[in-house]
Amino acid sequence: MDRAILHSDANAFYASVEAALHPELKGRAVAVCGAPENRHGIVLAKSELAKRMGVKTGMANWQAKQLCPGLVIVPPHHDIYAEFSRRLHEIYERYTDRVEGYGLDECWLDVTGCPMSPRAIADELRAVVKRELGITVSVGVSFNKVFAKLGSDMKKPDAVTEIGRNDFKNKVWKLPCSDLLYCGRATTEKLKLLGIVTIGDLAKAPPALIAKRLGKNGEMLQRYANGQDDSPVAEAGEEEQVKSVGHGITCVADLTDLEEANVVFVALTQDIGQKLRCLNLQARGIQVTVRDRDLHFESWQQLLPSPTQCAADLSKAATELLKTRYGWQKTIRALTVSAIHLESVNAPQQLSLFDGDGKRRKVEGAVDKIREKFGDDAIKPATLLGENKLPEHAPKQSPPPGGAG
Ligand SMILES: [Mg+2]
Repeated sequence: MDRAILHSDANAFYASVEAALHPELKGRAVAVCGAPENRHGIVLAKSELAKRMGVKTGMANWQAKQLCPGLVIVPPHHDIYAEFSRRLHEIYERYTDRVEGYGLDECWLDVTGCPMSPRAIADELRAVVKRELGITVSVGVSFNKVFAKLGSDMKKPDAVTEIGRNDFKNKVWKLPCSDLLYCGRATTEKLKLLGIVTIGDLAKAPPALIAKRLGKNGEMLQRYANGQDDSPVAEAGEEEQVKSVGHGITCVADLTDLEEANVVFVALTQDIGQKLRCLNLQARGIQVTVRDRDLHFESWQQLLPSPTQCAADLSKAATELLKTRYGWQKTIRALTVSAIHLESVNAPQQLSLFDGDGKRRKVEGAVDKIREKFGDDAIKPATLLGENKLPEHAPKQSPPPGGAG
């Protein structure tokens, strides 16, 4: 029997959750922003309406406001997004025990052999999620994971796209290679040099050429392009461990010096620290990726002196790494920082006499608790304080919805 795989992706997840909890935000342009009271604050996520008005992730808050004067800016509430993520999983698990999460708001479901048709399940999921959580999902339906994921991206919001064995060439081959899962920036560039632009080009390219120029990863992508992906959907609870927690933005005005970059790192690592603590993980390394004004990418990694989940350590290490590796020949357009080499906080570690990590961890854990109670705005590093541009509307944080999880 052919497999029936769904990929469900929540639309504009952060902004939709905010609107679900605060009905007065429904139908308004909403942006979830770090440091909303500060001119350095940046857009982390936006609603469909805000997107249509030109608001982009990574934009400075003031610029988003300028583009979209009615924009409602709200601070992020990661604990609530995590709770919605759990409740999404709980809904999916009513249909199958093969549910594999990908990030907070995406999931694969293996519904092979279910009495309902995959399409009917997809439509029902859309309706149930909307009714119970007040947010929408887009669902891809296919015979493998890669095409199911591709499908969930093709029509949104609140839509279903089917990609079958008989029509995948028509539906998928015209799309750019970069739409394929695991076809990253560097690979896309290499393919382009070989004149391979669409998924169809990749599917039909001489396998020897792909193997020679792109190695194992290229061979895998070529199999995907031909619909050959038999990777299983993990059973609930046995999904792969998170390998990294990263966060990046494209700056609207280029960064010109280390001090400006540091402010961005401080903002980005707040979220990363919070996520690591949510996942009970700590980082042994850090990665910084820079895109300069000519859109060239450079990326560096470094091990940390000791494992950490502290935002302050991460931003300090990121700034240090950039300082030693980047020559500032060109201004910076985009910055990404990732916590890498993750391990459980319970992993045995060598204690360092010179390291205040234990103390800082306690402090940041306490910071999380304060945020849980009073909202993300309640407390933040001094670096993010500055010119005060209080938002007109910063909703009070509701207690996380109870129930699932
Ligand atoms: Mg999504």
